Amino acid sequence: MKRIYLSLPHLDGRERELLIQAYESNWITTLGPQVDAFEQDICRKVGVGHAAALASGTAALHLALVMLGIKNGEEVICSDLTFAATANAIFYCGATPVFIDSNRETWNMNPELLGEELESCAKKGKLPKAVFAVDLYGQCADYGPISAACKKYEVPIIEDAAEALGATYNGTFAGKFGAMGVFSFNGNKIITTSGGGMLVSDNEDYIKRAKFLSTQARDPAPHYQHSQIGYNYRLSNLLAAIGRGQLERLDEKIARRRAINEFYRNALQEFPGVEFMPEASYGRMNCWLTVILITPKEFGADREVIRLALKKENIESRPIWKPMDMQPVFNIEEREAQGARRKGREAKEEHKGKDIVNSTSKRYDARLVGGEVSEDLFERGLCLPSGTKMTEDDLRRVVATIKTCHKIKPK
Ligand SMILES: *Cc1c(COP(=O)(O)O)cnc(C)c1O
Repeated sequence: MKRIYLSLPHLDGRERELLIQAYESNWITTLGPQVDAFEQDICRKVGVGHAAALASGTAALHLALVMLGIKNGEEVICSDLTFAATANAIFYCGATPVFIDSNRETWNMNPELLGEELESCAKKGKLPKAVFAVDLYGQCADYGPISAACKKYEVPIIEDAAEALGATYNGTFAGKFGAMGVFSFNGNKIITTSGGGMLVSDNEDYIKRAKFLSTQARDPAPHYQHSQIGYNYRLSNLLAAIGRGQLERLDEKIARRRAINEFYRNALQEFPGVEFMPEASYGRMNCWLTVILITPKEFGADREVIRLALKKENIESRPIWKPMDMQPVFNIEEREAQGARRKGREAKEEHKGKDIVNSTSKRYDARLVGGEVSEDLFERGLCLPSGTKMTEDDLRRVVATIKTCHKIKPK
């Protein structure tokens, strides 16, 4: 039985041609004409002024915080429902994350909770230094109210658009909504360079400094001289060539991912207890991954029954991101205070062998605002195979397997 993956790289354009050009040009390094051209291509596509191609999205997140001068002991607000890379970047700076719950309408950061938290921070006289807003699964966060709240307290936004290249909010492309925006070109993202990322901004100064810091912060001297600590974060010229080929086909990729999303919606609409991640009226998702939400009482089986049935059929699916506040690596007082209900759940998970916790590993302090919505989404949400390489037969196989789970009682 052919394995169906969640999201495979799909190189169907000029990637090979551009890669060979780069190879033959002998720019086998972390700068070169393909890097410059890839940056320009992204700027043109997203409608943003400046871009720095980097080794990963995580590197871009880290540099964005460095650019804002985030220091030890300061706080950075962050979406609770995200991939660990967003939170990790905060710890690279020695800062403390404050995780904000999602709302049901967008699954992204709840703008009201953000506003309340900023107000309460202002009263305490300790405002966070930045807000990391994540565009989850290719849907922009609600930047109208998020930007208004941040503007009121003069806290800069960094947009983690790692999953959202090509998505829009009121007609503007993802990546444009903060002081800086971040894209990822990891292997499973909507376009890939195998590994890579991009920091974008309309502020040229940020991008100039990002390029400087990402190439070991070398002062302009004939010898190696450094008056700042730098990083080795630049993207390889060979990988940039692949990225350019990928980007040329972005519109086709989004159209195909949307069609896949449409296929699942049509095929599963007859089943009670199956919902899809809602597309907010303010924009268009890139449909990077199609995510369903299962209500076990109505569907007659839970998310895990479906995941395991798919696994048995050699089909990869994944629970949605486990919220940051539920990660064992973080010490969160608010979570402890939520008490017995959460403890009970954690014990159950450990029993299922889901959480492999190294109890001797260091834990890091974080804060939490809300958390009920992201927890519920995690427990009921499942990402379905959504790669553009999928055939109609593959899609039918996934749907047929999900259908067999209807009314299987959870164990
Ligand atoms: C993939 C991802 C990242 C990290 O990007 P890398 O290129 O893998 O470092 C960061 N944030 C989110 C939300 C992501 O999905």
